[in-house]
Amino acid sequence: MNRHADFPVPTKNALNAPYWDALGRGQLAYQHCEACGHAWLPARSECPHCLSPEHGWEMATGRGKLISWVVYHRAFNPAFQDRVPYNVAVVQLDEGPRMISNIVGLDPEHPVADQLSIDQPLQLVIRREHDVAIPCFAKVAA
Ligand SMILES: [Zn+2]
Repeated sequence: MNRHADFPVPTKNALNAPYWDALGRGQLAYQHCEACGHAWLPARSECPHCLSPEHGWEMATGRGKLISWVVYHRAFNPAFQDRVPYNVAVVQLDEGPRMISNIVGLDPEHPVADQLSIDQPLQLVIRREHDVAIPCFAKVAA
């Protein structure tokens, strides 16, 4: 099987292009409502809080905290079959948006549950896979 061809690369479009372009430059961008100030990810055409279509893009500091996580023991997509077990985490950026990501830099010799805890401070780590910049997070000291 050609894993490269099967790697699920994101679909870039006019709406989310600022997000993927920023990651390519080493930055994490999020949307910000000009009407109510709400901030969110992933990209959408109107504010999920007040439905205003007036929004802009802001650059995140890359700092956040762990909200929740699970460990996949069975690959969701065959392209990730050789990565199991792997974690999928909900991360909340300091600026407010929550995003689905992976926690990297954990010790593979120890259970994930022993290494992560809710509210764990995290820092953005951008990894390149198949020419796509992927936002991951690593633990940092509180
Ligand atoms: Zn709004």
